[in-house]
Amino acid sequence: MMNYEASPFQNYESITIDELKDQANSLLNLVTEEQRPLCVCMNNSKEFLLFPQDLLAPVCDSDFRLILLSAMRYAMGRNTCMPMVVADYIKRHIQLLDDKFLVLAADEIRRHFEDYAEHELNPNLWQGLLDALETEQRERATCQARKVKPCPVCGKPLEVMSITDNRHSPGGFDVIAHCRNCLTDYEWFCDKDGGVSDMKQYFFG
Ligand SMILES: [Zn+2]
Repeated sequence: MMNYEASPFQNYESITIDELKDQANSLLNLVTEEQRPLCVCMNNSKEFLLFPQDLLAPVCDSDFRLILLSAMRYAMGRNTCMPMVVADYIKRHIQLLDDKFLVLAADEIRRHFEDYAEHELNPNLWQGLLDALETEQRERATCQARKVKPCPVCGKPLEVMSITDNRHSPGGFDVIAHCRNCLTDYEWFCDKDGGVSDMKQYFFG
């Protein structure tokens, strides 16, 4: 996922998961007191890091989204490698960027299109990023509505067929789902905080 030229963790000491289990207290002291990150190797050859949370401070800093937005502003309208660097970086890490960033970045691109559409040299690139931002926003908004629910009759998992915006409740969704076992459709309402109404059988038409 990450686009580092060399592993940024290559200077960290490395241990196995069994060593971590045996020496948990002293190793955690090393990490927290002495600020020495550790790379832990699992038996399935995956690795994870133990580190003080300060290490993530630069990306958890709320100014980070402003820095990304100014990189976007700088790149839009330019015909260098920066538009692709910035757009690809945001797409690569879109799941880690916060809701507020998604809103601000999408607004920024829409405004740029309104003001400078005819001068933009990479309209497809920015449209592609705007699509990715909108898709991610929709996925976050519908995440409660998409949660798998059991059929009220047979208990098998229902398949969500459609999620539509509820006209009367902003941020709420009407969900229709199908049970393959009973061949029955159900509908329910999911409000913007994830609260769910009772299920009713749904009849087309
Ligand atoms: Zn069923």
